[in-house]
This record gives sequence, structure tokens and C-alpha cells, in this order.
Amino acid sequence: MDVELGHPMPFIEEEETEPPSVSAPRVTDTGHATATDTFTNPIANLFDGHRQLLEGDFWRYIPAYRGVDQATFLDHHWQSQHAVTRVDKLATALGDLLPNAFFRDVEAGMARAPMSLRISPYIVSLIDWRDPYSDPLRKQFLPLASEQLADHPMVGFDSLHERSDSPVPGLVHRYPDKALFLALDLCPVYCRFCTRSYSVGVDTEGVSKYHLRAKPERWEVAFEYIREHEQLEDIVISGGDVHNLRADQIADIGNTLLDIPHVRRMRFATKAIAVAPMKFLSDDEWVNSLASVAQRGRKLGKEVVVHTHVSHPREITWITQAATRRLYGEGVTIRNQCVLLRGVNDDPTILRTLVKRLSYVNVQPYYVYQHDLVPGVEDLRTSLGTTLAIEKQVRGSTAGFNTPTFVVDAPGGGGKRDVHSFEHYNRTTGVSVYRSPNVDESAVYLYFDPIEFLPEEGRRRWADPDEHATMISEAVRAAGHDPASLPRGWGASQRRRLPVM
Ligand SMILES: *Cc1c(COP(=O)(O)O)cnc(C)c1O
Ligand code: SF4
Repeated sequence: MDVELGHPMPFIEEEETEPPSVSAPRVTDTGHATATDTFTNPIANLFDGHRQLLEGDFWRYIPAYRGVDQATFLDHHWQSQHAVTRVDKLATALGDLLPNAFFRDVEAGMARAPMSLRISPYIVSLIDWRDPYSDPLRKQFLPLASEQLADHPMVGFDSLHERSDSPVPGLVHRYPDKALFLALDLCPVYCRFCTRSYSVGVDTEGVSKYHLRAKPERWEVAFEYIREHEQLEDIVISGGDVHNLRADQIADIGNTLLDIPHVRRMRFATKAIAVAPMKFLSDDEWVNSLASVAQRGRKLGKEVVVHTHVSHPREITWITQAATRRLYGEGVTIRNQCVLLRGVNDDPTILRTLVKRLSYVNVQPYYVYQHDLVPGVEDLRTSLGTTLAIEKQVRGSTAGFNTPTFVVDAPGGGGKRDVHSFEHYNRTTGVSVYRSPNVDESAVYLYFDPIEFLPEEGRRRWADPDEHATMISEAVRAAGHDPASLPRGWGASQRRRLPVM
């Protein structure tokens, strides 16, 4: 699509140091091993590009933000108040930058989307609106009906079985010594691909959510469970996003957990560093509250860190750098976990730049996730073969401690597994088989590549519902397990966690 913009775009790193993604050596997402052979032509400037952060008042090319000065744009209240939550508001903010057909495409996409719409002005101003169809930031937050694909037959809400692994509402206890505390169900933005779309955000046309509100009474039940389970040393405080907790709530949660003797580590999870970094520059009360918890933890010999979620190098600007510098200065470690997303970061050049740019701004790349089997976002999933090939290109490009581990969060509640640790991977049917002995010694877990990328034979077999159970049996048998006595009907149902014989 060709949209004429009256103003020059300020994306220096895209224009000058990184080639447009169309000519970059992309992974051919066929799911075949040969994908690795397509990267032999590394891009010039690859290792310099990560230091060139977007500078200046880059938001001013958006018609609605033309008159917004720096102090206003850096105000976290202003960012929240001006978050775009409706398509017509987006159209107004963008003025005449885009034709109506684009907004109709978004409206139609929203009607089938599991997540509600919410985009911060910071992100709106980082989208290259000259070509929103291929823009990696647009793809994460704005669905287009013209891009949507049918879900894989094995896709389902809460594919990680978080609710069945929750002894009390909003506390997922799956691993022996760590638990996931879902403190709230609100975020500064809503990501299309959220794995917790069963809960996070406001209800959408198709989905009435399992809400986990920020309620001290509910939290206390979770804290009591943690107190009673001495094996729990590590608590992830997530949701939702702790960005949306008040400063006093951050202090209450942090100090309550620090007071539990066996809790040694905690991480506050927020996407704000990627989508609203001004939170760390203008909400002093909130930052000081977080920093006090971290400093109190340090005195007690306990680790309090921030985990964030940056997907693309363009999300990191001079504002991000100022934000991470402040946290780093307060002694708070920041780690990043992101999802490998088709058309966003499923490209070794982009992912290498992301890893190096994160390291450059004091953020440790921790995980890159295989996209979960969640509904409504099939157009964003990649195959396991793509992930394996990209990992090979990223490892070795920088320090090992800044090299993320690529994981698949095993559907059915197996937890995070190194993508390479599959027991079996059939690139024709796209079925991979994992085990997770620390979670359940007696189960196998299955992941399914997007059907679109499978060779003809695999696509044909998935088109026939009678073949589904057969393909799964084949994979389980090839992984060395006997599928004969598996419960009847498991293949065609939505079960992805199977007992091992
Ligand atoms: C991801 C996750 C954790 C933390 O796992 P790490 O591998 O330590 O990052 C804990 N509990 C649940 C349920 C999780 O999904
Ligand atoms: S910020 Fe995290 S929890 Fe919130 S919508 Fe995005 S992925 Fe989901």
C-alpha cells in the first residue's frame, strides 16, 4: 500500500542502518530444515544498527500529537489518558494519513479479535503509517480482517491450562519452587497475541473474560497459599501488568512477599518499558515504591527484579534508554521476554538487533517464546522450524548471558521447554512432542505448527478431521511412547496433554 505522508519520517534506524524487511534475508517459513540456508548473506551494518536509537520529538508527525511538547509526551498520565481504545479515535488521531479502507479492515478484524483495543500514544507514534500493512508494531496491536486466518484445530483459550493449575484464583502453581501471581487483569496496552486472553483486558464481542481484579482480599488468599507452601522461593507478579497497580499496591505486594521467609526472589512483570517507558520517568511515586522494595529485598539477601516484554528493536528509543537507565541506577535488574511473531521479529537480523539493543540499554534478553496456541492470532504464529533456525543465527552474536533461551511453553501446562528439547518433530504434520519431568513425569505435551506453512501433505491431512488423531498417534509413537491406550477421542478433542504409557 502506498500512502503519501506530508512529513518526513524520523525512523533513522529503519531507513539507514537496517534494510527494509522485504529485502532482508527472511526465514522461509516452510518448516523445513533448509530454512537455515537462507541466512548466508548477513546484512551490512548489522552490528552497528543497535546503537542508533530514535531521538527527538518523533511523535510530532502524528497529526494529533503535532503540538505535543516533550514534557507532555513524557507524562505517564497523558499517555494513559490518550491511549487509543476505539478505531474511530485512531482515525481521528491519524487525521488524513490513511484511507478509510484501512480502518474498515481494523473494525472487521476487531469484531473477531479476542483482545480489546488499547494502544499508547508512544506506540502509535512508532508505527510507520506509510505502510501499516507490513508494520511490525501495528501487527502486534491492531488486527486486520484481511490478514486473519482460521485457527488451528488444536488452538484453545487458556492453552497453558493456567486455571486448572491454580490452587486459588490468580495464583498458578505449576513448577516445584516458583509460582505466577496474577495481581490484576489490566495493561497499558492490549497485545493481540496475549496468552492470557481468557482473562486480560475488557470483554470483547466474542469473549466474556475470567476477570482477575486488583483486590486485596483475593491477593490475601494467594499470599496465604504462598505462606503455607515453603517450597515456593520465586514469585512472578504479573497479570495484566504491574504498570496499572498504584504505588501503594506495589509496596504492599512487594513487602508482603518479602516478609515471607522462604520467598527469595520476585519479579514484577510490566510491558511499560516497551510501550509506555515514560512511566519510569514521570511517576516518581511508583518508581520509588518499586525501588524501595528492591532495596529492602537487597538488604534481606532477596532478589527483586523487573521483567519486561519488548518485541521489536524499534520499540526502544531514547525514552526507553532514559527509563532503563533510571531503573539500572536504582540497582534494579531488568530482563526481557518476548514472543516470536510472524512479520514482527521472525527474522534473524531483527532479532539480533533486538538482543543487542536490549543489552545496550541495560536489559538482559531472557526468553524468546514460541507463540502459544491461542485463538484469533494464527497470522502471528511461526513454525517450530523457524524458531530453531533463528535461534541458530542469534546464538553467538553477543555475550552468552545476553543471549535469550528460545522456549515453547508446552500447551496443556507442561511449562517452558527449550525449543530444541523435543522428543520428536514431524515437519510434514507440524506436530512436536515434549516432555517435562519436573512438572509431570507421566505426560507428553504437543505443539502444532501453523497449517499454512506445512507441505501439501500436511495441509491435506489437517483438512480431514479423521486424520487428526492419527497424526497425533504417529507423533507420540515416534517419540517412543505407546499411544494405543490413550483415552478415546483425545486426538480430536482439545486435549494437548496426554498420559505417557
Ligand atoms: C513462566 C512461569 C513461571 C516462571 O518461569 P521461569 O522459567 O522461571 O521464568 C512460573 N510459573 C508459571 C506458571 C509460569 O508460566
Ligand atoms: S501486556 Fe502482557 S498481559 Fe497485557 S495484553 Fe500484552 S501480553 Fe497480555
